[in-house]
Amino acid sequence: MNKGSVLLIEDEESIGEMLTTVFEREGFRVVHELTGEDGLRRLERTEPLVVLLDLNLPGMDGVEICKRIRGKSEIPVIMLTARDTEIDKIIGLEIGADDYVTKPFSARELVARVKAVLRRSQDRVDDRRFIEVAGWTIDSGRREVRPPDGEPVRPTAKEFDLLWYLADHKGLVLSRAQILEAVWGYDYFGETRTVDVHIRQLRKKLEGIPIETVWGVGYRIEAG
Ligand code: CA
Repeated sequence: MNKGSVLLIEDEESIGEMLTTVFEREGFRVVHELTGEDGLRRLERTEPLVVLLDLNLPGMDGVEICKRIRGKSEIPVIMLTARDTEIDKIIGLEIGADDYVTKPFSARELVARVKAVLRRSQDRVDDRRFIEVAGWTIDSGRREVRPPDGEPVRPTAKEFDLLWYLADHKGLVLSRAQILEAVWGYDYFGETRTVDVHIRQLRKKLEGIPIETVWGVGYRIEAG
């Protein structure tokens, strides 16, 4: 059974060979590109289920590639990093990766991560819901926000999750720590300032949605 393809962007041939065997056994096809430029081109022509992206690539590096992918797509991205310390870099940069593994990783572990990421993105589609705020419609299936009139806006993945969390708790004041835990996950090492930065971006992109600052506490979207 063919479950779909996995796009691997990785300059080490041997990793491609190892993953091809294991993923094929699981019913996935592996498409392997050795450079970021080729990977991005491939992504424009095909629709893989997930991208496995090496952080250290010759030429355009994984951080830049991930940003470019995020600029146009919600496809899940799993970063392949060489050292634990690089994880901080990925998370700190907020480049929008869905998960990461540290080399050397086992192919089996990576398959498990891929399945988990695919399950999560499938859940998002299955649980499609809409929340109305000030005449705007927030659509969890399309992950876009539609103004009362005009073109839909597509925030980045994290911006959307943040907006959704606030809108889903309309009327409640949410602390930065609460927001971090809910949106970024308990294992997120970032600072609460991350929340402020994303709120600022949301306000810029979605001027019609009133996100209120509650001084000394956090943020709130007014009920009603
Ligand atoms: Ca590499």
